[in-house]
Amino acid sequence: CGIVGYVGGKQAQQVVVDGLARLEYRGYDSAGLALVVDGKLATAKKAGKLVNLRKALEEEPPPASTIGLGHTRWATHGVPNDPNAHPHVDCGGRVAVIHNGIIENFAALKADLLEGGHVFGSDTDTEVVAHLLEDEVGAGRDLPEAMRRVCRRLEGAYTLVAVDAQDPDVVVGARRNSPLVVGRGDGENFLASDVAAFIEHTRDAIELGQDQVVELRRDGVTVTDYEGRPAEVHEYHVDWDV
Ligand code: GLU
Repeated sequence: CGIVGYVGGKQAQQVVVDGLARLEYRGYDSAGLALVVDGKLATAKKAGKLVNLRKALEEEPPPASTIGLGHTRWATHGVPNDPNAHPHVDCGGRVAVIHNGIIENFAALKADLLEGGHVFGSDTDTEVVAHLLEDEVGAGRDLPEAMRRVCRRLEGAYTLVAVDAQDPDVVVGARRNSPLVVGRGDGENFLASDVAAFIEHTRDAIELGQDQVVELRRDGVTVTDYEGRPAEVHEYHVDWDV
């Protein structure tokens, strides 16, 4: 339902949770976040309102990090509980992914993954993406290329945002039939399902087109199609109040 990604110089936890709060008006049933910390992922996710996630973060504060992502979920596959909340993480704990929408062909993908020895921790359609990305980065591909290859296999509507614990410099997003917007800052960049999530930080935005993948780094944003070719994007300035 609500998506936020961040890389920059600020504490990602705060940027992400504040961004999710800005998206609360959309309605949701669970919330979670993932941060990259010293080659590992720190994740927290809770069913219920954002206050439950905030409480969990207060009780067990994650280490400082300047790269992360967060999600508020509106369940379509799997009841609203802690394991089904996003982010979803692969077996090795290397890749974390959040998702808006529905992966229509998840059942077939999940059957293949189970046969390949992947172990699932949720009932969501989303979790297949974490395991598909795991196979791609495990084969030596970087996260942006992994995302392009995975998206070519997905059917349905999705905004996806992912991080790789072994690459603390990049947040990767992709979209089909579901919105994803980049916020461009100075030494920091944002991803969100809606500009409201980052409007307090920047009003320079890029709207991603259909079937595009974005690589978000501190000092730059690269957008390609699913084949890796540079893509045309729509840049604009948000001059209305959100
Ligand atoms: N289909 C996913 C799920 O049920 C994503 C739902 C959403 O858009 O929040 O977990």
